[in-house]
Order: sequence, then structure tokens, then C-alpha cells
Amino acid sequence: MKFNLITPHKIIFGQNSLSQLTEEITIFGQKAFIVTGTSAIKRSGILSQVSDKLKDCGIEAVLFSDVKPEPSVDMAEKARDVFKKNKCDFVIGLGGGSVLDVAKSAAALANESGKMIEYQSGREIKIPGVPFIAIPTTSGTGSEATYNSVLTDTLKKAKRSIRAPEMMAKLVIIDPALTISVPPNITAYTGIDTLCHLIEAYVSIESNPITDALCIQGIESVNQGLHGAFINGSDIEAREQMALASLLGGMVLANAGLGAVHGLAASIGGLYEIPHGLVCGVLLSHVMRYNVDVVKEKFACIARIFNPSLNEESADTAAMQAADLVDNLLKEINIPTCPCDAGIYRDNIPAIVAGVSSSVKYNPKKARAEELTKILEDAMTV
Ligand code: NAD
Repeated sequence: MKFNLITPHKIIFGQNSLSQLTEEITIFGQKAFIVTGTSAIKRSGILSQVSDKLKDCGIEAVLFSDVKPEPSVDMAEKARDVFKKNKCDFVIGLGGGSVLDVAKSAAALANESGKMIEYQSGREIKIPGVPFIAIPTTSGTGSEATYNSVLTDTLKKAKRSIRAPEMMAKLVIIDPALTISVPPNITAYTGIDTLCHLIEAYVSIESNPITDALCIQGIESVNQGLHGAFINGSDIEAREQMALASLLGGMVLANAGLGAVHGLAASIGGLYEIPHGLVCGVLLSHVMRYNVDVVKEKFACIARIFNPSLNEESADTAAMQAADLVDNLLKEINIPTCPCDAGIYRDNIPAIVAGVSSSVKYNPKKARAEELTKILEDAMTV
């Protein structure tokens, strides 16, 4: 048994944990760069909560609130420019995965001179950046616990990561109350992204006993929380389960990799403007059906979480139900199971397959262009 485990330096989790920001933040410096989105975080009052806390401990704050969903590498470049111009000490990402990814890359490349796009194409980060503090406001990407930033290269029409272990957050504050204002459709998309991370990492060829344990707990939490958070956004227990699932999803994806769903989703995300979680949702059960014969024991465990009566059945029988049980959950939260219903069409299959990302190499069953094409064709004929 051999594995490495990379995790954030410190994680503070729980309802009202945002109140601990004041006691944790002063070690990072006197001038903060707050990265956030264009409106939701301001409207919900979350931004003023954070700004007030910084003021209380005498920290000056520079605000960058331009981040739009599914951000481009140019957006991240702009954030870094503003950071440098204002000579801040550290970066706080306050928002969903889009915001966290822009904040994370701005912090990591704060002291480098090259263009962001060069690092996205593999240039090494040689000069350490500044501390990155993650405060997620969606439960989905787990970006608070990963060391990559997913950014769209608009010229190549592809989503790719800037990645380096040093990009990991120094401090993560996960307060489930910050996700109460997330509307039902985004709760569904982000929640399915989390479930995808947990299932793909669980069956990844790089999985290990620690990531396996985290995946099982995370899938349990999705089972307990996702439907409740979707039908009643104020259900704090459900939000708490999803915040935990999201964190665990990030930890496992950072350490075990993902699979064909995310390999394809990265390509689709560059071609279509569709929320990342929705893309993952419409692909998940199709990729599971493709993988089932090589990961029966693990799929049986997943199926038994969603339907405990399958404990009475053989692993083979339980495993065969895993994808259908995921489809049932998708239906409960209004996510279609056919890519066409999300606006992804047959004509683009060759381009999608050609742009697949490196995540696919962790898929438990070899998925080359031919197999990926077949998965997409089958998915579009249901
Ligand atoms: P998002 O960050 O794009 O947010 C979706 C929408 O929700 C936005 O309009 C945002 O303003 C709104 N929102 C956020 N918090 C809210 C709140 N508390 N109340 C009301 N509205 C709120 O969505 P996401 O799914 O969190 O992030 C998606 C991005 O993350 C994609 O670009 C995806 O590729 C990337 N991603 C990154 C990683 C990683 O490890 N770095 C992993 C998976 C996905």
C-alpha cells in the first residue's frame, strides 16, 4: 500500500464557523484581497459579514467582485493584476467553485511574472504565491480542498486546470449557513457535481483506503442531504450534510483523481455554456453503466447506501442497480438523464471526445475515443 495525501492546512467546519474568521485571519497579514461573484454574495449579505469581520480586526480589504460562473483564464489574470496593483498580503475566495478557482490561481501566481495561460499549459510555478483562504458558498466543487483551478481557455474552447500542490488553501472555513441562499437548481447541479467526485474517486485507479473511507462517508451525506436541501433550502441539517459531502469530494478528487465523467465534462464545458454540475449529472449514470463490470464490489456499496434493502442481495445484483439509483436521485432533483435535454447534441460528439481532459486516465476501465463515443451515443439514445 502506497499513497500520498494532500489536504488544506486547516479546516474549520460547522454552523456559525464564519465567526471564527477574526481569530484565524490576522496571521496572514494586514491587507486582504477578497475575490467574489457579481451579485449573489452581495445580495445575500455574506460579503458584508466577511467585510465587517475583517474591519473588526483592523484588516484592510480590496474587493474584486467580477467573477462570473465558469470563469475564463483571462478573468483569473485580471484578478491577479488587481491583486498585484494593490499589493495585498493574502487572498480570500468567497463564493462558489468559480470564485474559489479564480482566487486560488490569483494567490498561487501572485509572485510569478508569466501569463496565467502559460501555467495552464504546464509552466511550473517557481516562486511561492501568497496564502489562499477559501470560504465556499456552494456545496459542490470541493475546490476548497483541491490544489487546482479550472479555467476556460476561450481560444481553444477548453476547460483546463492550473495545478500545483502549493495551491492548496492555508485556511478553509465551511459554514453551511452560507449555502442557505443557493436556489434549488444550483443546489441540484452543485450537489450532483459532489456526488460525481465521490463516485469517480471511489472507483478511480488511484483510490486508496483513506479516500475510500471519505468517499463512503461523502456518498452517505449526499444520500441524507441532497434531496432535502433541494426541496427546502433552509433545511440546515441537509445543508450541513451537503457541505460535508462537498469537502470530502474535494479531498478525494485531489488525492485519487476522477474519471470519464469529468474527462468529458471538461471538454463539454469548453464547447457549451452549461453549468458544470448539470453536465456531470447528465453523464454520470451512463459512465457508471460502462464501468460496472470492473468495479462491482464498490458499486454494490454505493447501491446499498441509496437502497439499504440491497444488503440482502448479492454484490452482483446490488452493483447492477447503482446507476438506476443515481438516475432516481437525478429525477428527484430535476436533472435530466439525457445529455440532449441539457443542450448537448450528437453533432458535437467528435469535438467532445477530441477535447477530453486527463481525468479520464483514472477511469477504472480504459476509455479511449472509441469507447467514449459509444458512451455518448448510447446516452443520447435513451
Ligand atoms: P459557481 O461558483 O459557478 O456558482 C453558480 C451560481 O451560484 C453563480 O451564479 C453564483 O453567483 C451563485 N452562488 C454562489 N453562492 C451562492 C449563494 N450562497 N447564494 C446564492 N447564489 C450563490 O458554481 P459551482 O458549481 O460552485 O462552481 C463551478 C466551477 O467550479 C466550474 O468552473 C467548475 O469547472 C469548477 N470546478 C472546480 C473544481 C476544483 O477542484 N477546482 C472541481 C470541480 C469543479
